[in-house]
Amino acid sequence: MGGRSLQISLSLIADPRSGDPKSSLPTQSAVAQRPPLSYIADMDKTLHIIGGGMAGSEAAWQAAELGIDVIIHEMRPKVGTFAHQTGLLGEMVCSNSFRSDDDEQNAVGLLHWEMRAANGLIMTVADQHRLPAGGALAVDRDAFAQSVTDALTAHPKISVSYGEVTELPGDGNWIIATGPLTSSDLGAAIASETGSDALAFFDAIAPIVHHDSIDMSKAWMQSRYDKGETEEERTAYLNCPMDRDQYEAFIDALLAAEKTEFHEGETAGYFDGCLPIEVMAERGRETLRFGPMKPVGLTNPHAPEIKAHAVVQLRRDNKLGTLYNIVGFQTKMRYGAQADVFKMIPGLENASFARLGGIHRNTFLNSPTLLDGQMRLRSQPHIRFAGQITGVEGYVESAAMGLLAGRLAAAELSGHRLETPPDTTATGALITHISGGADAKTFQPMNVNFGLFPPVEGLKSGRRGRKDRYKAYTDRAKADWQRWLAS
Ligand SMILES: Cc1cc2nc3c(=O)[nH]c(=O)nc-3n(C[C@H](O)[C@H](O)[C@H](O)COP(=O)(O)OP(=O)(O)OC[C@H]3O[C@@H](n4cnc5c(N)ncnc54)[C@H](O)[C@@H]3O)c2cc1C
Repeated sequence: MGGRSLQISLSLIADPRSGDPKSSLPTQSAVAQRPPLSYIADMDKTLHIIGGGMAGSEAAWQAAELGIDVIIHEMRPKVGTFAHQTGLLGEMVCSNSFRSDDDEQNAVGLLHWEMRAANGLIMTVADQHRLPAGGALAVDRDAFAQSVTDALTAHPKISVSYGEVTELPGDGNWIIATGPLTSSDLGAAIASETGSDALAFFDAIAPIVHHDSIDMSKAWMQSRYDKGETEEERTAYLNCPMDRDQYEAFIDALLAAEKTEFHEGETAGYFDGCLPIEVMAERGRETLRFGPMKPVGLTNPHAPEIKAHAVVQLRRDNKLGTLYNIVGFQTKMRYGAQADVFKMIPGLENASFARLGGIHRNTFLNSPTLLDGQMRLRSQPHIRFAGQITGVEGYVESAAMGLLAGRLAAAELSGHRLETPPDTTATGALITHISGGADAKTFQPMNVNFGLFPPVEGLKSGRRGRKDRYKAYTDRAKADWQRWLAS
């Protein structure tokens, strides 16, 4: 076992490139030779991780590399999901892409960089099985999952127990990383602990727009009927007006747009509270004007004498005020079609989207109310959550939340408190968002994006300044991440 483990670790670090964190990852043997971290004291406490997907695999690797004994509880291949095809750990359920690998101009590329700098298993194996894909990091999915499985099963500190966990553990040290397709018994157990309102089984994501890309010479801030006690409340919504012709053209485009279908077995009553806008439009051309686009209680200060035929409202999506979601605009339109249709909205012609809309089968917690800053369930602090179930979205974000949960758990098991990384880093921006930065009432899963980062002062806003701004974000993040890793 030891020989096999060393062989796999060495193959994991093979990377011809230099000058970035990929080339300086420590080998498992190098980790063993490092002076022991002072906080690693108690070696007989075991960390149990439920789910061996993106997050669970990364969490296990991180904790094991810090000297903690880990047991991964994975239900596949004994119990399957509608999307997974194998019994392998770290299986990619759909696309084979980890998205942009640009660590200077893209927030997901920055997340790659941070995970590589932190000896991340998912990134290391992804680099090993990389396929040509332009600026994206795409991988050979089968070889990727096989290598993740080999690395974990060969690690002397990790064992895997195959079988479904159906109850919440009463004691011990646990991370739940069961993902968007958490099995129904465990989902029910989580819902009974958290309250069913705080656990969703579908996401209904309205598109989110970067505030600095909205044309405020057409849009204005006002709450319907000027409701609210304070000026901030009375101006909480951003409004985009449409005349009759613009509205009719918008409905035509909505009806004609290409849509995605649900996977078999994925549906089950999602229609109750969150109809996609195109379904509303199919029910009648006026339906949206009496629903999310109703024009009542609003006066356009740019043209006070003209009554808008319809109004699209956007609501602030984060404390920083850098992101706005389009209220009630969950959709099953394909991404390309969405961008085209939403840019027909006056004021959004040049909109830059932090994320596009969607409706998917997705089990996720209302993390802002349920989790503390250490990713622990407030009511059961021996249980952490990680991955997509915490309300992040995507392979990379899920793995990053696994990396963080694994390190936080390892530190706690060793009698040391590790602070979460600052919100100037990509990992820190995500955890800050899900554990309190996001509005709990409208919380929906989130991809990493620069709208989650505190602004860098003194830089030009808008499209023109974007390149410099993103470089400043990523430079600041890298320095802060290195400081956090050394803490
Ligand atoms: C249909 C579909 C398509 C997607 N496509 C993409 C995409 O193209 N790109 C992208 O970035 N993201 C995509 N996602 C999101 C993707 O699932 C997540 O990004 C990522 O896989 C989540 O990682 P995770 O570790 O949180 O969950 P997962 O990777 O799903 O891992 C969870 C693991 O927990 C196990 N498990 C569940 N319940 C139990 C239980 N009770 N006991 C024991 N084990 C259990 C599961 O078998 C699974 O192995 C998709 C999701 C779905 C559902």
